[in-house]
Amino acid sequence: MEEKGTSPVGAGRNRITNNESGVFVPRKVNALIVGAGFAGATLAERLASQLGWECVVAEKRGHIGGNSMDRYDAAGVLVHAYGPHYFRSNSDRVVEYLGQFTEWHPVEYKILSWTDGDYWPFPVNLNTFEKLVGRPSSSEEMVATLEKWRVPVESPKNSEECIVSQVGWELYEKFFKGYTLKQWKREPKDLDASVCGRIPIRTNRDDRYLSEKFQALPSPSYTRLFEKMLSHPRIEVLLSTDYRDVASDLVFDRLIYTGSLDEYFGYRFGPLPYRSLRFEPETLPIEYFQPAMQVNYPNDHDFTRIVEIKHATGQKCPVTTIVREYPDDYGQGKERYYPIPAPDTAEIFRKYKELADQEKHVSFVGRLANYRYYNMDQVVAMALGEFEKIKGAAV
Ligand code: FAD
Ligand code: UDP
Repeated sequence: MEEKGTSPVGAGRNRITNNESGVFVPRKVNALIVGAGFAGATLAERLASQLGWECVVAEKRGHIGGNSMDRYDAAGVLVHAYGPHYFRSNSDRVVEYLGQFTEWHPVEYKILSWTDGDYWPFPVNLNTFEKLVGRPSSSEEMVATLEKWRVPVESPKNSEECIVSQVGWELYEKFFKGYTLKQWKREPKDLDASVCGRIPIRTNRDDRYLSEKFQALPSPSYTRLFEKMLSHPRIEVLLSTDYRDVASDLVFDRLIYTGSLDEYFGYRFGPLPYRSLRFEPETLPIEYFQPAMQVNYPNDHDFTRIVEIKHATGQKCPVTTIVREYPDDYGQGKERYYPIPAPDTAEIFRKYKELADQEKHVSFVGRLANYRYYNMDQVVAMALGEFEKIKGAAV
């Protein structure tokens, strides 16, 4: 972007403001915010409520909430529109901040893995180990056995090393290899250790999918949480609006950008690779379809998981909706869901990041703009941190 307060790209097509004489006068606001997901909504809320800033939020989709959006489907079942979103956090600050806009429905997220024709306790824990050895066991025996199975690797550099160094080849192949190949279209050894490293390995009977101290869903919904965050009178939300279509109609002090960096910089170093997904929902005339909110399919079928979010939301209704998730290449008409954490993609991102660091009047916040596999709470923490920086510079 050339200078403070001018449009970053292109000419405005949907002029959003005009004066009485009919002569177009760009509207002055404090911030143009690109995207109404957790990053954009948090910054809009903070800037409007704490600094009195006039904020315009441009969201290219027809709804707020970004990938965290939920809604009632035609059968009346509350579904997570873009895959299951299990809120969890170790940050009191983030939980307290969001707690101003929502109640919480506590959930112990529990899932299963379907492999070798059976449901398996997952993530790997003592129950999984007992099923594997076919008899009751103990944490001590499991620790001693894993010690024999594991492949010693001093500091695991990729996802294959991350798992085999903890549990060895058999459990790696049973639960991780096939799922990861399907999800990322890459061998685990070509992905950062942090990808499979997200999944805990436990030698006790704790069978929760996640380990963070706070685990709960916003109640009644994510969408209501976003509505409250964005309800401040100084926030205007433009849905179905690419920011490039309105940026030249505005004069703004600051751009908050939560979209993808390659798009912002006109793809000058080539596209940043992403994985996409196809969601196939199915409503069934039964109360529940499967024994857990999520069943993973590491080695069977083209889908990676079937999610029945009703188990987690606690909604009571006589029908259910399940969603099968099919990994997909990212391309025209698809959504960017997952940045791909790997050395080659990090190299492309590094080039864009150098350019981003020179944009002094732009904040690049969130999962896409930082090309990081962030969870929701991490994005909120990042947005709160960015708010403090902006506030510090404003006083
Ligand atoms: P987003 O939610 O992607 O919001 C960015 C917004 O910017 C989008 O709405 C987009 O339409 C808009 N935008 C982009 N470009 C433009 C433009 N040019 N003009 C206007 N608008 C634009 N996190 C968890 O904590 N727990 C989970 O269980 C979990 N599960 C997930 C499952 C899936 C399938 C996926 C894909 C993600 C999951 N996440 C989960 C991650 C979570 O979705 C993200 O951390 C969070 O949504 C990031 O918020 P954000 O605001 O950075 O990005
Ligand atoms: N993973 C796996 N087997 C599983 C679950 C996860 O190999 O049964 C790996 C896979 O590479 C996946 C990563 O661990 O992409 C992170 O899993 P998570 O469930 O956190 O993925 P997300 O919900 O972010 O899609």
